[in-house]
Amino acid sequence: MDADKAKMFRVDILVMLIDDQAIVGKLVQTMLSEHTDISFHYCHNPENAIAEALNIMPTVILLDLLMPNISGLELLKSIRQNPITHEIPVIMLSSEDEPRTKVQAFESGANDYLVKLPDKIELVARLRYHSKAFVHKLQRDKVFEALQKAQAELEKQNIELLRLSQLDGMTEIANRRYFDECIIIEMKRSVRNQQPLSVIMLDVDHFKRYNDTYGHLQGDDCLRKIPAIIKKQLHRPADLIARYGGEEFVLLLPETDLDGAKIIAESICLAIFNAKIPHGSSTTSNYVTVSLGVTSGLPNNTDTPEQWLKQADEMLYQAKASGRNQMQACAIKSQ
Ligand code: GH3
Ligand code: MG
Ligand code: MG
Repeated sequence: MDADKAKMFRVDILVMLIDDQAIVGKLVQTMLSEHTDISFHYCHNPENAIAEALNIMPTVILLDLLMPNISGLELLKSIRQNPITHEIPVIMLSSEDEPRTKVQAFESGANDYLVKLPDKIELVARLRYHSKAFVHKLQRDKVFEALQKAQAELEKQNIELLRLSQLDGMTEIANRRYFDECIIIEMKRSVRNQQPLSVIMLDVDHFKRYNDTYGHLQGDDCLRKIPAIIKKQLHRPADLIARYGGEEFVLLLPETDLDGAKIIAESICLAIFNAKIPHGSSTTSNYVTVSLGVTSGLPNNTDTPEQWLKQADEMLYQAKASGRNQMQACAIKSQ
């Protein structure tokens, strides 16, 4: 292993010994002294053990089983219950070699058990093994947490990207692509639920003249006002308004029959007129007006969105031909 790699894999070990006998502290310290990657902290008062552990954050704890005032097993339970220390590996140290005592220690959450005083090589090997396993787990947890954060961020960005890809940049309402997806879904839903569906095509009257009179930028402003006015006439969350292109808008009204759609179309027509956006060069009115084509009905399995849109467009053409600033409607003629 080259030096860099060795550095990468080197794990610093911080051993905390909790033992009331100072002589044990001295002996363990001596055993570990030649290992430069192992730091040692001795805690002789078990009552301070948790506070000291929280302060130094050891990578492994050596815990005496028999101590005055507090038993090693009780202290072990406290270590396991503390949300910060609960995962630190604990090796019980005891002069007892009884299987029952060992079972008790493991049942209380010990990771290992050594009979006092252990062989130096064995002690170091176990301290290294438990420390590395613990540190690696912490590193894995950290990487996992970072990964989860990154994933959540990515998901958020994807949702935002999707939202943007469905919007018309200028008017900030749905774009045609999104409408094209929705109409397919809504037609299928209508067939399934046997509920009527309505489509309204809307076109601003004499908009070329509006641009010619007021300029293209004011034309843009006007096109931003129209959907805002339309939205106020829609009261169901499922109703969709989209910019179909240029100065044309389209509405999709699920579970709405022809009569309902006609009422909505008329209210939109009136609301736009009542907004009194001046249009000095319109031959229809002094204000901006719109024409609307409505179609509605129960789609059948062979109906296509194109057919429905064509029908709504034909009605829009009729509204234009009949003098603009009005809506024309007819039930869908299924093939
Ligand atoms: P009609 O009453 O028959 O609908 O007449 P019109 O002038 O509205 O229809 P026409 O199709 O001749 O012209 C539409 C105009 O809408 C022409 C085009 O420049 C304008 N237009 C389309 N998209 C935009 C836009 O995003 N911003 C602006 N300012 N104008 C647009
Ligand atoms: Mg047009
Ligand atoms: Mg127009």
